[in-house]
Amino acid sequence: MHIAFVVVPSSGHVYPTLAVSAELIRRGHRVTYFLNEAYRDKVAATGADYRDTPNLFATEMEPPGGKFNPPLLAKTLLDMSERILPDLVAALAADPPDVVVYDSMCPWGRLAAHMISVPAVASMALINFPGAMLFRSGEALRIVGVLARGLPDVIGFMRTARRLQRTVGLKLPPLTDILNWPGDFNISYTSARFQPDATKLGSTYRFVGPTIMQRPHDPDFPWDKLDPDRPLIYVSLGTVFNDNTPFYHLCLEALRDGAYQVVLSFGKRTDPEALGLIPPHVIVRPHVPQLALLERADLFITHAGMNSINEGLYFNVPLLLVPQQLEQALVAQRVVELGAGRLVRDGRVSAESLRQTIDQMLQDATLTANVQRVGTSLRAAGGARAAVDAIETLVGIN
Ligand code: UDP
Repeated sequence: MHIAFVVVPSSGHVYPTLAVSAELIRRGHRVTYFLNEAYRDKVAATGADYRDTPNLFATEMEPPGGKFNPPLLAKTLLDMSERILPDLVAALAADPPDVVVYDSMCPWGRLAAHMISVPAVASMALINFPGAMLFRSGEALRIVGVLARGLPDVIGFMRTARRLQRTVGLKLPPLTDILNWPGDFNISYTSARFQPDATKLGSTYRFVGPTIMQRPHDPDFPWDKLDPDRPLIYVSLGTVFNDNTPFYHLCLEALRDGAYQVVLSFGKRTDPEALGLIPPHVIVRPHVPQLALLERADLFITHAGMNSINEGLYFNVPLLLVPQQLEQALVAQRVVELGAGRLVRDGRVSAESLRQTIDQMLQDATLTANVQRVGTSLRAAGGARAAVDAIETLVGIN
């Protein structure tokens, strides 16, 4: 079988697919990725072929406008789809896959699969909040506000959607669903326990949990500086909305006394000089080996990005949630509902109260039990093997 992967160039979207690609190849299938140069080596390391995608983001996907702006992002992705589709469809037609696995934030993948008449499998790196569910969430007012402020982009999106619908002959979902567009079949990297209303989503969804795969050893990380006798607190706001020096200062102040070992990943947009003097019990880096650190961490201060949540809970690490945008706020809300973390509002918390929350969380047996319960559901969901089983079943191999 030949499987084409069409993915948006962002760690949070590419990483979960890599173990699936490796497992497909282990079972003797052929995989071709349509991505950009920034991910060529990571993809090739799984044994997959790599093809460049003309007109895709040239490097790492940056949020258009520099902020989380769903109407603008939705419009940008559809406009990009129009530009990407001709080359992509030609490349797929020249070496036809049996199935297209597309990141659910890549409308061009879903549309291309339809144009070459093969099944479209969505790779869902995000939790699934269909539009209707979104409006029932505690964030409904905020969502209406976001849509109202982005009205010109909403209109632009609708125009492009109508045009694409006419040329491709496939009905496009509304703007609230295009950032996580379901396919003929859907692989979600969470568990049915974590996904709200999982059963209502129907039988085309398979919840396989995180596809944790060994990442290359990072020889630059100072492992010998980690003190095994102090609890380890790991802080990261992910790889996208992470330019937040005031929050890093807050963490450094709250953890200044050295009671805990601290590792802080501050991203590639923050000026390291701005972090100030770093005490010896704190390691700061623009990027760290997150999985290896989570294996030994006692607490994870996280932006509630879906992968970070999955990875933290997979390794039974309680989550202190500091969402940086709306989607992360919804994910954080779900973690709190399951009792697996506590929420603090960025900008509204003092160093003293952050420290108090950390101290309490490390003593909280109920929290530990809840984290383990969700962690067990994620570990039992089957990972990359379950994802590949589902793809094989879809094309009639088993
Ligand atoms: N990550 C990492 N090292 C870092 C920061 C992030 O390896 O220093 C990885 C992390 O393991 C996760 C991904 O980058 O797989 C971030 O994805 P997530 O969905 O959590 O957040 P996003 O970056 O998309 O906001």
